[in-house]
Amino acid sequence: MRTVVDTILAEVFERCRDNRDGTLADYIPELAEVPPDTFSLCVATADGHVYEAGSSDVEFTIQSISKPLTYGLALADRGADAVAAKIDVEPSGEPFNEISLDPVTERPRNPMINAGAITAASLVAGEPADRFERIRRCYSAYAGRDLGIDHDVYASEARTGHRNRAIGHMLRSFGIITDDPEDAVDLYFRQCSITVTSRDLALMAATLANNGTNPLTGDCALAPEHVERVLSVMTSCGMYDAAGDWIARVGLPAKSGVGGGVMAVLPGQIGIAVHSPRLDAHGNSVRGVQACRELSKALELHFLHVG
Ligand code: GLU
Repeated sequence: MRTVVDTILAEVFERCRDNRDGTLADYIPELAEVPPDTFSLCVATADGHVYEAGSSDVEFTIQSISKPLTYGLALADRGADAVAAKIDVEPSGEPFNEISLDPVTERPRNPMINAGAITAASLVAGEPADRFERIRRCYSAYAGRDLGIDHDVYASEARTGHRNRAIGHMLRSFGIITDDPEDAVDLYFRQCSITVTSRDLALMAATLANNGTNPLTGDCALAPEHVERVLSVMTSCGMYDAAGDWIARVGLPAKSGVGGGVMAVLPGQIGIAVHSPRLDAHGNSVRGVQACRELSKALELHFLHVG
């Protein structure tokens, strides 16, 4: 049966469909060559209803949307205090791949910039050879299905990622990473190369909305005591340098990635995902931002909205 949510989703999809603004990420050929017009919109409720519009079964690389998930795994493995000693929670106002630490605290400013994300990867417990499998299983628990990796994207990221290597070695020189920084950087390249669909992303977001438990499988992806911290950094730092505009106009914790995905969470209620690979100047999906603005308005999702 077609519901009100289906109707609103279809309307938002139609309104965004013809927007061809933005450009594909082109720092590796695999991203520069994806079909640019792929578009899907997916909403999953915290009790497991899934609504889809467009090609929600197309796989793409998760890229930076991995950052809050690995941060959550680091919190679970090491505890909030140990993680806070290494990664701050302040918005940076700097490019996501800036090779710098906060000059006063000498820590990465937050886990959504690469310095913080590579540090979070270094904090995942286990032997280097086992850590990626722990990350992959963790993301799979959020999505409720077994996720794979795009080996070509991984190979390209690893071949060209000199800036991320520089960040890794900077972190090692400041004692933020204490073992081989190449292991953490490699883990980061791999986590960015995990493939998802927008349905997966919506269920990941719904899992966060449902306090860390996937609403369809009942599997716990993240303990409730860490969900609030993960959603907090998504709120203040999740949308690159457009985080302020995003919170003013959409009003939801969110994270985007250069693969064109956006995931947003209304705690206790729903998860939203959009996939559309053309990006704006900040690196956010153009139709992803537009669709989330329109959905937030139509469904009154802004977390400061008073009915
Ligand atoms: N693999 C990318 C990088 O760190 C991820 C970029 C992103 O999605 O922001 O360079």
